[in-house]
Parts: sequence; C-alpha cells; structure tokens
Amino acid sequence: MKDRYNRTINYMRISITDRCNLRCTYCMPQDISLTSMDNILTYEEILRICTAAVELGITRFKVTGGEPLVRKGCVTLIREMKRIPGIEQVTLTTNGVLLGQYLEELISAGLDGVNISLDTLDAARYERITGKNELPAVMENIGRAIDSGIRVKLNVVLQNGVNEDEWEHIALLARTNYLDVRFIEMMPIGYGKNCRGVSGRELLEKMKNRWPDLETVTDIHGNGPAVYYHVPGWKGSVGLINAIHGKFCASCNRIRLTSRGKLKPCLCYGDTIDLMPILRRGQEEAANGSGPDGNVETKDMVRRAIAEAIAEKPAQHCFEQKDHITEESQMVSIGG
Ligand code: SAM
Ligand code: SF4
Repeated sequence: MKDRYNRTINYMRISITDRCNLRCTYCMPQDISLTSMDNILTYEEILRICTAAVELGITRFKVTGGEPLVRKGCVTLIREMKRIPGIEQVTLTTNGVLLGQYLEELISAGLDGVNISLDTLDAARYERITGKNELPAVMENIGRAIDSGIRVKLNVVLQNGVNEDEWEHIALLARTNYLDVRFIEMMPIGYGKNCRGVSGRELLEKMKNRWPDLETVTDIHGNGPAVYYHVPGWKGSVGLINAIHGKFCASCNRIRLTSRGKLKPCLCYGDTIDLMPILRRGQEEAANGSGPDGNVETKDMVRRAIAEAIAEKPAQHCFEQKDHITEESQMVSIGG
C-alpha cells in the first residue's frame, strides 16, 4: 500500500517482547517495569495481524524485541509466519546470546536472515555496554550463523568515547566473512537521547581514507535504509544507516508493531494506533458467539487500522530537532 507521500509500505517490524537478557546502556540500562503477559500480543494475534497486513501489500517482516529469543515459542511464531500465503520474507534481530541454541530450528522454520547486534570486540567493553559477559557466546553464535549459510548482518552502534575507535576492526569482519557490517547512527529515542553517537558521514570519510578503492554497492541488500559499501576482494560489505546525518524518510517503507499491539507509523513520534481492543473484542465475540463472523470482521478492522497507520505516516522524522520528538518509550519497547 502507498502512503500519502507515495511511499510503498511493504515492511513491518514486530516487537514480540519488551524483555531482554542484556542491559545495553543506550537501550535498557536497568530493569524497566515489565508488561504483564496479558497485555502482550499473543502469537495468534500477531499472526492475525500479519495476515491482514499481507492483504495491504506488507510482505516482509522483522521479528524483534526486547530480545525476541527470550520469549518462549519465537521459533514457532516464525514458522507460522512463513506459512502465511503472501509473506515473502521473515528475518530476526537478536543480540545473539541465545542464537546458538535456536539456530537450527530457526533455519528449518524458514528464517530468511538474522541481524545480530555487536558493538565491540572487546570482552570488558562488551560487559560495560551490555551489562553481561556474553561476548564469547555471541562471537561463537555469529560464527555458527555464518557457517549455516543464513544471511547474517551485524548491527553496530558506535558511541564517542565508548567504542568509536573499533570501527575499523569491526568493519574488517566483512573482509573475511560473508556478512554485512552495518553501522547505525545513535537515535535520540529513550536513553539514546543522552548518548553521543558517531556521525555516519564522518565514518564514511574515514572509510574512504582507509580503503581508497571503497565502492558504493548498487544492488539492494535488504529492506532498510542502509547504504552499502564494498572493498574489492572482501567477502562482505559495510552498511551505513545514517538516520540523523542522511535522512532517508523519503524512501521509508515501514511501520512498527509493539508487543502491546500498538502500530507506530514513525519512530520519532508517540502517535500509535492500538490493535489490542480490536483483537480482544473480536475474541470475546467469537467466544460468546455474537456477531455473524467475528473472525472475518476482526480481520477487516485490523486491516483498516493498519491502513490508517500507513495513511498517517508523517513525511519525516524530526531527530534533528529533539524538542519535536514526541516518542517517550524506550527503544527496548519499540524494537529498533
Ligand atoms: N535485542 C535485539 C538486539 O539487540 O538486536 C533486538 C532489539 S534492539 C532494540 C534492535 C536494535 O536497536 C539493536 O541493534 C540496537 O543496537 C538498536 N538500538 C537500540 N537503541 C538504539 C538507539 N537509541 N539508536 C540506534 N539504535 C538503537
Ligand atoms: Fe536488549 Fe537489544 Fe536493547 Fe540491548 S539493544 S538492551 S540487547 S533490546
């Protein structure tokens, strides 16, 4: 479906939980009050939303969190999503801690790719950034994912004075491995508002100086706004997601669904459309037999609500004017 700015919206990011097994400083540094499971979309509800979304031309889905792999049944959800006619792609964003445990099942469920967050190659730093000593497990799981042949992307958020000096070492992972390393600019959402991110534009200059034969990749690598670069002879590529210094709103193709059932037209603004009342009312009606066909009616209403969220997508985010940002949730509740 096209929005009112003629952008085709074909991609939905679905956060399935706001729980996480890490405590990244810029995302969820300390425990937050967790949403009770009653107020989290069930997998059945998520599948109903996906089915309605497909009818609007949303064919690509990202499962995210919190940490999606801490929610029991994540693999089953992905398997069921892949069975929905019309769904072309389901990918996962994870911190990688539990990936080894589920990798084989995820692949046999049909997962199309995995994004793994990795901000440092130094174990002590990893612990300072994430609150946990999990770097060895994550590196092992990244290796296993690459060996499995599934498409692997690494998500890296650089911060001044924290890990910006590691950009080259992390980028070099793409020299010897079939993976994409993506540097994501810190976005001023939640705890990220107080962090000093690194400009992707400046990073590109450093990359060009370091690898003068760096070339821009022209083929499409994914669903997102990353611009990819390649050094001749490297197995993988390096992507830059310059949310702040390379505003890509004109080609935005996505909406977000939070674990509480709220559709978010844009990351920057707090406006949402709540699917929960529609879904839960439909369930009640189905249970007590009222209404001609509760399921069909609910699906129509969900589809209309998604269409409304798409229609309400603003032209652009306002990250450069922090006082205009109305989103007050933490990134852990939104899913990135
Ligand atoms: N737990 C999973 C993970 O870490 O990949 C999935 C959820 S996490 C919220 C998704 C992505 O958002 C991660 O790559 C994380 O680094 C990124 N992220 C979190 N807060 C951010 C911020 N303020 N700006 C940019 N990226 C952020
Ligand atoms: Fe958890 Fe991912 Fe947020 Fe880190 S970035 S706290 S791993 S949800």
